[in-house]
Amino acid sequence: MIKKDFRNMTLFCEQLPYTHLAEEFGTPLYVYSKSALTEAFENYQTAFAALNPLVCYAVKANGNLSIIKHFASLGSGFDIVSGGELARVLAAGGDAAKTIFSGVGKSEAEIEFALNAGVKCFNMESIPEIDRIQKVAARLGKVAPVSLRVNPDVDAKTHPYISTGLKANKFGIAYADALEAYRHASRQSHLKIVGIDCHIGSQLTDLSPLIEACERILALVDQLADEGIVLEHLDLGGGVGIVYQDENVPDLGAYAQSVQKLMGTRRLKLVLEPGRSLVGNAGSLLTRVEFVKHGEEKNFVMVDAAMNDLMRPALYDAYHHIEAIETKDIEPLTANIVGPICETGDFLGKDRTIACEEGDLLLIRSAGAYGSSMASNYNTRNRAAEVLVDGNECKLIRQRETVEQQMANELACL
Ligand SMILES: *Cc1c(COP(=O)(O)O)cnc(C)c1O
Repeated sequence: MIKKDFRNMTLFCEQLPYTHLAEEFGTPLYVYSKSALTEAFENYQTAFAALNPLVCYAVKANGNLSIIKHFASLGSGFDIVSGGELARVLAAGGDAAKTIFSGVGKSEAEIEFALNAGVKCFNMESIPEIDRIQKVAARLGKVAPVSLRVNPDVDAKTHPYISTGLKANKFGIAYADALEAYRHASRQSHLKIVGIDCHIGSQLTDLSPLIEACERILALVDQLADEGIVLEHLDLGGGVGIVYQDENVPDLGAYAQSVQKLMGTRRLKLVLEPGRSLVGNAGSLLTRVEFVKHGEEKNFVMVDAAMNDLMRPALYDAYHHIEAIETKDIEPLTANIVGPICETGDFLGKDRTIACEEGDLLLIRSAGAYGSSMASNYNTRNRAAEVLVDGNECKLIRQRETVEQQMANELACL
């Protein structure tokens, strides 16, 4: 995907040098590799081939219309968590009938929009939500296909902010309450129970919690069947973790085999909702060095990207590999790589050894997921442009924002 060309000592995305991309589109710039997106999607299809799964790309990882469109062209379904994300899927030509509506706080307006669009399933997370979807469906004279998100109470062993499957989390229906919640849903006139789902967290580097969750959910599937509530699909939620630094990431083939074994002869369609692992390693954030500042205790490499462009380091203390685009014969320094935002938390990398000087380009790796989709305008910074590279061609898939666009909805009263 991203190769080092040692002759020129410069980095490429597919066949395009990052230096050309920076010249043409400016920085900070999100750069995605189309072939890496395709490969990541096909990895799921191949690993789970025996189960013929519906892979529903989790749009919140990166909602760019071109990325959604590309996955739609590969046959992907979608996992959405808001009406806004549904609008994106529809605008990009995604199929509502392959779209799963997840999320813990759906509004009536969002439910109505999704019912009218004809989504595949609502993943419901509480009794009041069951009642709300019933109410909206009855009003519209429609039947809502539904699933309950059950919290299997397993420890995903990931960062607490992205761990969602423990009792203490706000997500899902408690395991012990799941049967009663299903009975409640089955008594509603305008709901059709079609599935069950769980999602225990993101950036999972260990397979065992995923398998444990699957096992616990299947036990519920059987109990439900005993009561005459027969499900059509099992949705195991998000994907596996990716390599940011030196993590051991779960093998998809091993995951698929375990799931297949656990599912046995049950006639359930498998649904998966990977986000990070479909886009994370396919994207990088290209940035330029503004200054190198030698402090009393620390050196700082100030770049033109910041926490508003890539929030993960500030939010989760996440690691992203950072390297210089061109290899230079200068003394490397150890520095914090920071943005221009007025926050001490505005860092992209800490204590990195890097050979660079003012004007050089740096590449922040593995920034395709939860990068641009979490971007903000803090400090009135324009959100970065995005490009999609395909071989030796590239397309602008998001224009750099302007200050006029940022101010367009504001009114200077008084
Ligand atoms: C965020 C999320 C996903 C995607 O998780 P990844 O770790 O990015 O694969 C899937 N399903 C639900 C319900 C989510 O909230």
